[in-house]
Amino acid sequence: MQIDCKTAWENCLLFIKGKIGDKSFKTWFEPIIPIKLENQILTIQVPSQFFYEWLEEHYVDVLRSAIVAELGRTARLEYSVVVDTGNSTGKQLTVKLPTSPSKGSNGHTPTIEKEQVTEPFILSNHLNPKYTFHNFIEGDCNRLARSAGMAVANKPGVTSFNPLMVYGGVGLGKTHLVQSIGNDIKRQYPEKVIVYVSSESFTGQFIESLKNNRIQEFTNYFAKVDILIIDDIQFLSGKEKTQEIFFHIFNHLHQSGKQIIMTSDCPPRDLKGLEERLLSRFKWGLTADLQQPDYETRIAIIEQKMQADGIAVPRSVLEYVAYSVDTNIRELEGVLISLIAHASLNRKEIDLELAKQTLKNLIHDIDTEVSIDYIQKAVSEFLHIEMEDLKGKTRKKEIVIARQIAMYLAKEYTTHSLKSIGYYFGGRDHSTVIHAIQAVNDMIDTDSRVKNNIHDIKKKLKLKVV
Ligand code: ADP
Ligand code: MG
Repeated sequence: MQIDCKTAWENCLLFIKGKIGDKSFKTWFEPIIPIKLENQILTIQVPSQFFYEWLEEHYVDVLRSAIVAELGRTARLEYSVVVDTGNSTGKQLTVKLPTSPSKGSNGHTPTIEKEQVTEPFILSNHLNPKYTFHNFIEGDCNRLARSAGMAVANKPGVTSFNPLMVYGGVGLGKTHLVQSIGNDIKRQYPEKVIVYVSSESFTGQFIESLKNNRIQEFTNYFAKVDILIIDDIQFLSGKEKTQEIFFHIFNHLHQSGKQIIMTSDCPPRDLKGLEERLLSRFKWGLTADLQQPDYETRIAIIEQKMQADGIAVPRSVLEYVAYSVDTNIRELEGVLISLIAHASLNRKEIDLELAKQTLKNLIHDIDTEVSIDYIQKAVSEFLHIEMEDLKGKTRKKEIVIARQIAMYLAKEYTTHSLKSIGYYFGGRDHSTVIHAIQAVNDMIDTDSRVKNNIHDIKKKLKLKVV
């Protein structure tokens, strides 16, 4: 008698549960959905390629044993990976697990081959429902861009924010923000045609249509759109023909009161190789930037992400990760994924020790460079001065000294330029930083209390690394 895939998989899970830790089981096995069982082949669906690789890497043996125990020696397992194509239906890709006993024995890694998609001009919005305003944490770093985005989402094409141009460095949330706008418009105005496209994909589709004599179709496709979201516009640099067609589409949409939303990794004035007439169009609407999130925003982002994953982490870990990773949010997320993976692999709780270990492996220059934020925090805690005051204007003596010490340490411990250090201290100029360093050097020679304080703060900074 053939049993159904659900029952088979449930039995496999019972087998696996006895073999691995609770946390690993929860993280890596509960999200799996059995899809079908045919000819002794059990197909399971996993949420991402990363997930699939992780299973392959760490659980292939226990999986195989479970399948064999449940379905017999000839049984096989196939994965179906949900590929993030941006539309809510997702896309299934099927990959086969090698039939050899384990991946390590022949060094063979199964590859995933994407099916060729040959209908480039079917309207599909490429919105990823996981990006929403709700999970886009607000902070000083993104307030203007976020609220402009919400205004546009409430009244697309009607506000003066048209086009809306969002710019900022990598991993600071451009894609998340503009996708949130798209998703919110879709929710409020289901009848509107929304298209999200990266500039690379726009260029690729354009070249493809040139080759196949389908330019007209290409233009018609974009002319039908009510909301055009075009991501990473900097990739249009130097591509004259693509810019030209984009210029026409842009004008057409704008004149018809359609909303255009764009992102770029730098302010429009720095977009090299973009035609002047295109640049001047961008200035019609609103340009809003995304900056590096400050410490508090980073804490809020980590909290939210861990909560969304249903994982509890101690406050000390939250703070440690937020102190240590201040470059961008994508990197922050990478660290969190690693932490979860390590905890689940080693069947450990996520604690400070594990966080330190994980970060040490991930961030190579961590022992040579601490962040300015971290230094400010350390000085603020040690000398009992508010962070805000370190960056603020107060001229009270003890605050001025603390501020100077923090600048001095920033010069010593980071590779930031004097100008950049000044920026982190409330936008002071580089001569203030030079003066601070000089003043601290003098104090070290003349004031043993200052000297000892600096010594102790340095010890604290070094502690950051295990
Ligand atoms: P960019 O497009 O600027 O390179 P992304 O939009 O891809 O950056 O953001 C990188 C990651 O950081 C994404 O996973 C995104 O969800 C997350 N992220 C960025 N900003 C925020 C925020 N304000 N709140 C929560 N998550 C964020
Ligand atoms: Mg992006």
